[in-house]
Amino acid sequence: MTMIQTQPQEPTLRESRNTSEDAVTFVTRDVTVHYGAKKALDNVSLDINKNDVTALIGPSGCGKSTYLRCLNRMNDIIPGCRVSGRILLDGEDVYAKSMDVVHLRARVGMVFQKPNPFPKSIYENVAYGPRIHGIARDRAHLDGIVFTSLEKAGLLGEVKDRLHEPGTSLSGGQQQRLCIARAIAVQPEVILMDEPCSALDPIATAKIEELMDELRINYSIVIVTHSMQQAARVSQRTSFFHLGVIVETGETEQIFTNPIDRRTQDYITGRFG
Ligand code: ADP
Repeated sequence: MTMIQTQPQEPTLRESRNTSEDAVTFVTRDVTVHYGAKKALDNVSLDINKNDVTALIGPSGCGKSTYLRCLNRMNDIIPGCRVSGRILLDGEDVYAKSMDVVHLRARVGMVFQKPNPFPKSIYENVAYGPRIHGIARDRAHLDGIVFTSLEKAGLLGEVKDRLHEPGTSLSGGQQQRLCIARAIAVQPEVILMDEPCSALDPIATAKIEELMDELRINYSIVIVTHSMQQAARVSQRTSFFHLGVIVETGETEQIFTNPIDRRTQDYITGRFG
């Protein structure tokens, strides 16, 4: 009998770990968003898997950020913005009257394009959320949460001796990781990232990308990115948005190597956008 030895294949794109229905964090159906009379999203339906990084790609103005903001009701604070459709987080209606929006935004944290630390110390930036949400039992517990969150955000080693310096004294990349630590500190289920690396240099970008792969072990991540290379590097699933609709969603590898829709093909090969 001949034994055929096969070399383990190094995956070129990261594989999705989830296929079953109970592995879905967000179910979104027929989500339509208007800003005044203008329709920005038209009947968008998408599932967000647990422990995956889901990338939202597409040309500017196609509704990616609008969709992201629906997930933790950040659109509520935009005057004239109306959202319809169904958005369920672990089966709970995000737009139900009974939904506590402050609590929702702790469960579904957000990291923005430009790092936005509070004008407080590094320690206080991370401690703020657990304090206002009553998560910390006492000072020792709070210290533990701050240290663990900074550690998970890959920042502890760089800041442990300067926790009482202002968050704004850090470099751009460190500030972005501080914002990630701040989101983690309130024990979220999902982290939304809206172009989190577009203000960062390539080294800081690489650190955040590495971090995303570690964070998805515990959280679902949804990232809006203009960089198709970044989407291919960090995500397991990709959704291609165009003119307010989702054209195609699939495993990242399929979207980038074998897209079904002609518009996806044209976008990923740089024919428009
Ligand atoms: P993307 O993230 O894909 O660049 P956006 O979600 O930011 O797209 O925008 C989708 C559409 O909604 C665009 O036409 C944009 O001009 C419009 N839009 C976004 N935010 C607002 C707002 N606060 N007020 C009015 N129109 C908006």
